[in-house]
Amino acid sequence: MYKVVIDTEKCVGDEECIEVCPVDVYELQEGKSVPVRADECIGCESCVEVCDFDAITVTEI
Ligand code: SF4
Repeated sequence: MYKVVIDTEKCVGDEECIEVCPVDVYELQEGKSVPVRADECIGCESCVEVCDFDAITVTEI
């Protein structure tokens, strides 16, 4: 299991993480990315790498 946290202060809603996530963890809600299916996360960290704003933290739990 992985914990996926978005820093909403940093997120600009550019949808890069939504595009890159292989298991559709994210949805855009009110201009921010929300990890609505975090239980599906496989910990690949593609979203962390693609985010230009360092808004995403993924940690194993
Ligand atoms: S770490 Fe990988 S699987 Fe998990 S939310 Fe990010 S892109 Fe999706």
